[in-house]
Amino acid sequence: MLEPLVYVNGEFVEKSKATVSVFDHGVLYGDGVFEGIRAYNGIVFKLDQHVERLFNSAKVLQLVIPLSRHEMAEAIMETVRKNQLRDAYIRVVVTRGTGDLGVDPSSCKTPTLFIIAEPSQSSLGSGVPRLVSLVTATVRRDAVDGTSHEVKSLNYLNSILAKMEARRAGVDDALMLDHRGFVSESSASNIFIVKDSKVSSPATSAGILHGITRARIIRLCSDLGLEVSERDITPFELLTADEAFLVGTKAEILAVGTVNGTKIGTGTVGPVVRRVASEFAKVVARREEGTPAYESEYIDL
Ligand code: PMP
Repeated sequence: MLEPLVYVNGEFVEKSKATVSVFDHGVLYGDGVFEGIRAYNGIVFKLDQHVERLFNSAKVLQLVIPLSRHEMAEAIMETVRKNQLRDAYIRVVVTRGTGDLGVDPSSCKTPTLFIIAEPSQSSLGSGVPRLVSLVTATVRRDAVDGTSHEVKSLNYLNSILAKMEARRAGVDDALMLDHRGFVSESSASNIFIVKDSKVSSPATSAGILHGITRARIIRLCSDLGLEVSERDITPFELLTADEAFLVGTKAEILAVGTVNGTKIGTGTVGPVVRRVASEFAKVVARREEGTPAYESEYIDL
């Protein structure tokens, strides 16, 4: 069987030979940025937005990506094509590159760039979102004046510790609060609540990643005639909501059944999340109007 090909610094190499240096500051200090992207039926979903977010994360770290946005988009699509994938999960990583032992990144002359594309089937086709349980993690999202998840950096310890707490508690994922105690997001997805047919999601002040799925779901909700707002949400509001759901590239859409053992609404998949998921399945299956050519380009196999 042919090995998957990984893009490493401009070359395609077999998975077993795709390596980075132990002197890479991405490895030594988590100094780098990344993106997780999906391709649905040969179209890389929201590619322009993922590339933009990658460059924005890099900008905050003053990490100069050695490719233009367009070249980056091309490299991502080429990685999917080379692996002959139509439905894929794609990981793009840019690190500070190799340097001396010492946190100062000035010894790192060239960023390391690698792109992995693996087969991944969407769960949206099943019609009904999966139900998950959460616990509130004791570890909180970083404040926005620090290295919060607004920067999609290689520092995911905050999320990893929360996920481990959830696993120890025997549930699927962690609900993370911000430093003030407001609802922030889960370990790797954004959260929405529904109360009296009104949809809300935590504002960016809660130190969340500016989720690309979240943004599209907000638009979708308003297209469906639902009132939708981005605002501070208290744990009380979540626990007493009619419905709650998680959204993200990897997670797609997941209904929240319980938080800390408390049922959200009836504890089953509610009507709003069901509707949102079935509409979102239609969104990913088609080219979106007004998208840049490279985003909606078919991966020609
Ligand atoms: N929050 C965090 C911390 C994440 O890692 C992710 C996954 N990228 C999300 C939210 C969801 O964002 P997106 O919809 O852009 O994948």
